[in-house]
Amino acid sequence: MSAAPRLIALAVVALAAIAPLLPFSPPYWVSLWGDIGLASLVAIGLVLLTGVGGMTSFGQAAFVGFGAYTTAVLTTAFGFSPWATLPIALATTGLATLAIGLVTVRLSGHFLPLGTIAWGISFFYLFGNLAVLGGFDGISGIPPISIAGFPLIDARAVYYLIWLFVLIAIVLSGNLLDSRMGRAIRALRGGGAFAESFGVDTAQAKLVVFVYAGLLAGLSGWLYAHVQRSVSPSPFGLTAGIDYLIMAVIGGSGAVFGGVVGAGVVAVLNDQLQNWLPKLMEGGGNLAAIVFGVVLVAALQFARGGLWPALRRLGPEAAPKRIDFSAAPLPKTPAPNRGAPLLEVAGVSKRFGGLVAVNDVSFSVKAGEIVGLIGPNGAGKSTTFNLLTGVAPATSGAITFRGARIETLPARKIAARGIARTFQHVKLVPGMTVLENVAIGAHLRARPGALSSIFRLDRAREAEIIAEAARQIERVGLKAHMHKAAGSLALGQARVAEIARALCLDPALLLLDEPAAGLRYAEKKQLADLLARLREEGMSVLLVEHDMDFVMTLTDHIVVLDFGSKIAEGPPKAIAESPAVLEAYLGGVE
Ligand code: ADP
Ligand code: MG
Repeated sequence: MSAAPRLIALAVVALAAIAPLLPFSPPYWVSLWGDIGLASLVAIGLVLLTGVGGMTSFGQAAFVGFGAYTTAVLTTAFGFSPWATLPIALATTGLATLAIGLVTVRLSGHFLPLGTIAWGISFFYLFGNLAVLGGFDGISGIPPISIAGFPLIDARAVYYLIWLFVLIAIVLSGNLLDSRMGRAIRALRGGGAFAESFGVDTAQAKLVVFVYAGLLAGLSGWLYAHVQRSVSPSPFGLTAGIDYLIMAVIGGSGAVFGGVVGAGVVAVLNDQLQNWLPKLMEGGGNLAAIVFGVVLVAALQFARGGLWPALRRLGPEAAPKRIDFSAAPLPKTPAPNRGAPLLEVAGVSKRFGGLVAVNDVSFSVKAGEIVGLIGPNGAGKSTTFNLLTGVAPATSGAITFRGARIETLPARKIAARGIARTFQHVKLVPGMTVLENVAIGAHLRARPGALSSIFRLDRAREAEIIAEAARQIERVGLKAHMHKAAGSLALGQARVAEIARALCLDPALLLLDEPAAGLRYAEKKQLADLLARLREEGMSVLLVEHDMDFVMTLTDHIVVLDFGSKIAEGPPKAIAESPAVLEAYLGGVE
């Protein structure tokens, strides 16, 4: 979240905090608003987990239960004071989410939501069947939270504490999203596999956001237990989990403040429905679930992004992210000596079932060279890139980079050794700015973690990352688009943005998959100049491109693939005259 939305968010939260002071606030509303605050904490976590990270959880209420039961047991059976149990409740929830996360976040597709339903149900019965937790009757007689000796029994008093925590959660969540780890989390949506090519440990990023969301739920549970003064299993079951998810979706699954908006809308709606439905028809109270279903479907139909983004548009433009060019430069790896062997591909093959996409291909790239990899569509060029970057394992063969074998390494480790790439099918995060997308490329060059980001101890490193990203964007000529959402770029510009992201990795070898596709003549010229300049600076490039003028004028050496096999190799001039190459292009499927 950048400055403007955060200001608005704080202003609205401040208003909400003042509201109960107003003489027209009946106690009933005060307690409803308190409930909204409690739900907001959970919904904010879900916004990060589901809306931003793309992991749907129906089981979040169980983690509220962990926080609530931990403090309930410790305060009633062991005489702990509520404040003493706060760190313990968070630790319990943190450990539980870590354990559950380790086994579930790796589930893909529909299996993760199904997994969350499974634990949502199991913990409900666990809470209900453990004698020490009071069975389905639960635990009562929980003491209120005291501040400076004053017990917060009055709804108004507790209200302030709840919203103080909500405020803290909003700020910390915004901090997390606006950081190196935050960009990794935001890249998870839609799989996020591409991020591994820049060194992002996506499994770790998933776990971080999973535990973070769990901790917010646990915090909500801790507060809930002391507000309600009793706990029982029902508020921590699957139904509650679904309500929380609806809040996150309705409010705005991509923005932290959407969690608060969603919690407000759902709580007020729920309350009013309980009020009005029975008056409209007998037994109508049970219809609330149906009304919610309709609201949810309507929200998904008409406002995919939720209510908050729509409200947000009424406010001022978000301020662009600050760039401090005086920030220290990121560390650089010494480039290999010009002419030194850099990449050695030896007899590499890749099979997809019966199809041999890459068949016993060998070639090499020397430092400071631009090597073209050409061939008709389906020749195996992109697959070769995937093998070189660890996106897919080779079926056989050896790949040596800077003297070390890399064919069995995962994408992340190969990125760390200095191979960066672009993708034929552009893989930018559409909702993030060009600057933020490019900054993902620098993931391995400065490593502030989640915790330091949450507490803003990462700002010096972050400034260095952002300055580097901005420099690379200027280098490729996209300065004017720096602060635009990547999704708004024309295809050609998006490809160039991918080059900037790859350069951010400080690579020794750059793999470009059809970088000139979709560029206009002048832009192609600009790109060719850039690549020539990079070569002068010692960069090595492996280039897949269909524009023959582009390839012929730029490359030092060309490798030609056809149906997965290498059919020719040599300097551009020789390739242009090679009968085998002409045959492949003219007689091919194109
Ligand atoms: P190019 O980039 O040269 O156009 P590709 O490397 O994308 O070609 O594809 C080479 C062949 O491998 C094609 O026949 C393509 O259909 C096939 N192929 C590529 N990726 C996969 C995959 N993941 N599963 C099955 N077949 C694939
Ligand atoms: Mg391709």
